[in-house]
Amino acid sequence: MAIIKINKENFFHNLNQIALKTGSIDKIAVVLKDNAYGHGLEIMAKLSAEFGIKQAVVIDTEEAMQARDYFSRILVLKGKPIEEKKFSFVVSDMQTLEGVGTRAKIELKVDTGMHRNGIAICDLEKALRIIKLRDMNLVGIMTHFRSADILSSELFWQKQLFNRVKIIAKESGLGGVRFHSHNSAAVFRAKSFDEDIARVGIAIYGGLELDSAYAELNLKPVLSLWAKRISTRVLKKGQRVGYAGDFRAEKNMTTSTYDLGYGDGWMRGDSSRPYMTAEGLPILGRVSMDFVSLESDADEVCIMTDARTAAKHYDSISYEMTTMLSMSIDRVVV
Ligand SMILES: *Cc1c(COP(=O)(O)O)cnc(C)c1O
Repeated sequence: MAIIKINKENFFHNLNQIALKTGSIDKIAVVLKDNAYGHGLEIMAKLSAEFGIKQAVVIDTEEAMQARDYFSRILVLKGKPIEEKKFSFVVSDMQTLEGVGTRAKIELKVDTGMHRNGIAICDLEKALRIIKLRDMNLVGIMTHFRSADILSSELFWQKQLFNRVKIIAKESGLGGVRFHSHNSAAVFRAKSFDEDIARVGIAIYGGLELDSAYAELNLKPVLSLWAKRISTRVLKKGQRVGYAGDFRAEKNMTTSTYDLGYGDGWMRGDSSRPYMTAEGLPILGRVSMDFVSLESDADEVCIMTDARTAAKHYDSISYEMTTMLSMSIDRVVV
């Protein structure tokens, strides 16, 4: 079976870098949604707790249950709010708000420009009135930035709109509510950080990329992907490998088949523009559902050590490269 290795030292390094920006590890909420961006939810939850992180963000109640023992507070992005001491749930439209029970902890998402989820700022006062009238359990108000990683003024006007949200909320007299807006890119672009928590995803995994105008980031990739040898042969000059025989040997060469394919969440890509593994071996011919061919006879090969590099090759993003990796691949901490 292919294997995913999780580098604990690099993970802790990244968390330290982030803590320098947020000023405190208590302000870091690690985003572990979607199986921790493919890294493995439980492994990353455990390592985060070992480092001293107390808060997490997950996609749904199922993930929240898996992470519950490791954190004191968990923000759930999607799904019906339920009453649970440690969980709070994002509510992002008026209709949902009116249907939510009064005991479940909720965090109101406000749309400051992403126009995907979140109530409009012009509805905020109405929403806060409903929350007060029904004596609902509001614990946070949040927004999400659409282009924090891109060099432009967009982050600034979204921040300004969120400042207005904070003022409206404070004037409404609802106390004890936390505010948060920053994702990884916003944390690293911020001159100073003064919110209650930052929701940090891609940076903890070392996959953050910012526009080149910004200072070099000191983050290290946490995940590496390895494949095991299934069989080895000598490919004679002129023989062709795999479906459609897209790769043709120009000389006799020793090749092996390794146990990784698009069924494991690896990209199929374009065989005329082969991906180079972390060890500099081009994938020979087409990627199959469960196999790739390489010129090697090593028992284990390293396919990827930095999702950012692989993403460049596949015209993708580091988020996608790791999140796609199948849940059934074993994950080990090294
Ligand atoms: C995924 C997500 C984040 C984390 O974003 P990164 O760019 O990975 O840091 C933060 N907030 C919300 C609402 C998200 O969905």
